Amino acid sequence: MSFNLSEESVREIVRGVLSQIRADGSVEPPADCPCRLKNNAQPKGGFGATAVYPSNSASASNAGIFSDADEAVAAAREAFLKFSTLGLKGRDEVIKIVKDTTIANAEAWGRFEYEETKIGRLDHKVEKLQIIAGVPGTEWLKPDAYSGDDGIMLEEFTPYGVIGAITPVTHSIPTIAGNCVSMAAAGNAVVFNPHPNGAKSAVLAISAFNKAIEKKLGIKNLFCCIEKPTLDTFAALAKNPLVAIMCITGGPGVVAAAMKSGKKCICAGPGNPPVIVDGTVDPNKAAKDIIAGSAYDNNLLCVSEKEVFVTADIYDRFIAAMKANGGFEISGEPLRRLTDAAFELKDGHYRLKRALVGKDPSVLAEAAGVSIPQGTQLLFAQTDANHPFVVEEQMMPMLPIVKAADFDEALAFAQKAEHGYRHSALIHSLNVDHMTRMARVMDTTVFIKNGPCMCGLGLGGEGYLSYSIATTTGEGISNPKTFTRRRRCVMVGNLSLL
Ligand code: NAD
Repeated sequence: MSFNLSEESVREIVRGVLSQIRADGSVEPPADCPCRLKNNAQPKGGFGATAVYPSNSASASNAGIFSDADEAVAAAREAFLKFSTLGLKGRDEVIKIVKDTTIANAEAWGRFEYEETKIGRLDHKVEKLQIIAGVPGTEWLKPDAYSGDDGIMLEEFTPYGVIGAITPVTHSIPTIAGNCVSMAAAGNAVVFNPHPNGAKSAVLAISAFNKAIEKKLGIKNLFCCIEKPTLDTFAALAKNPLVAIMCITGGPGVVAAAMKSGKKCICAGPGNPPVIVDGTVDPNKAAKDIIAGSAYDNNLLCVSEKEVFVTADIYDRFIAAMKANGGFEISGEPLRRLTDAAFELKDGHYRLKRALVGKDPSVLAEAAGVSIPQGTQLLFAQTDANHPFVVEEQMMPMLPIVKAADFDEALAFAQKAEHGYRHSALIHSLNVDHMTRMARVMDTTVFIKNGPCMCGLGLGGEGYLSYSIATTTGEGISNPKTFTRRRRCVMVGNLSLL
């Protein structure tokens, strides 16, 4: 259906719209818009019966660091309302501040996080911060427009408001910096409940971002952080009505806890990425790539190669190539000692102990009772497909390698080892049929062919960067659109120029 509007009616509409555009290009909100309300006033209709607006007490300048989760949310809500008035230009300024500050401090912050968490590799801690420029910004929010006989329609990507974000110890500042870019690009404010073992690093980065944002844009507390995060502060965030959505980056425990909160959750959950190597590839190249990926940051990346299934036709050559490229093989008693040090048997299941997570190969070698040559990148062992190092997400530089009779058996092993997390999988093959079958069977969020795992994050492969890969809930490698609502705006009438 189409309506014919008179020229005068169209002029009237355009005059109305123009009168609401301010000198800086932002739009004057309507009289009842929540962003015009005084700090402690209720919006008309509210955000639900229990919604409240921030108290003035929460707005004191503390560079975003709070001990109380509800106060942090109130402050972030106030920041969100101010941030909303700055338009895309304001978001771009914030993104620039986060990226510039992170890159300028990459060495210092990488070292700080390394010393606080005592896991991973210093060079990779620094690199993960240096590459933050690869996280996309507001350019991802191009609206969709339709124009036709019935008028015009615009679908835009609008912010949620305040996001509650949970971050892992494996990449504390990288995840926070990446979340800040994507979430602020989408127009949101954020309250972080970081992992307690990486909380000092979180405070360091978030307070630096806030100080620079306040100086440049006059907004306080756009990114808030709980100084001493606990399960209680997590629960308070999850139940605060002003937290519009939760973004979880972590293991199975926190994903399950968040999903019970009743809020919309974007969950970047656990993985256990399997690798298949078949007889079509150069075993030397495959071993080099696998070692580079699996040893990266001592195997802390959630996309890292965690277990390898190799077809019988190339198996012996692949093992030799692992030895020739920085892998150190353990077996027998040393493997048993390392397994006991890394896992505990509880109720018939092996559980990962944290003591060796992210530690250097030399520390693992000591636990295994072997000495390794200088330059060893990781330990590896030939195991069966049910070994705890295959089944569990070990997050340490010790790679189990399993011989498969053929590709079909390798694929069955890989599917079982991934546990249906739909996180990541890798293949080294020149056989397109094998690649396609593995992609379909694994159905993972990230599938990497013929390269190390970092290629899946844009480091050495095509594509953009994110440290929150929404595997459990299916949004994929997160980006600004992940943190938006989609809103349709329709104007009816014969307005099209077609
Ligand atoms: P973790 O699950 O121990 O902790 C992650 C976060 O959740 C921390 O902030 C922690 O304090 C919190 N937490 C843990 N259990 C909780 C509970 N029951 N209730 C509330 N909060 C809880 O994980 P980690 O060791 O910090 O990180 C490694 C895990 O995270 C691995 O499983 C890895 O695969 C996953 N991860 C996934 C991605 C991704 O993008 N998909 C990225 C990084 C890490």
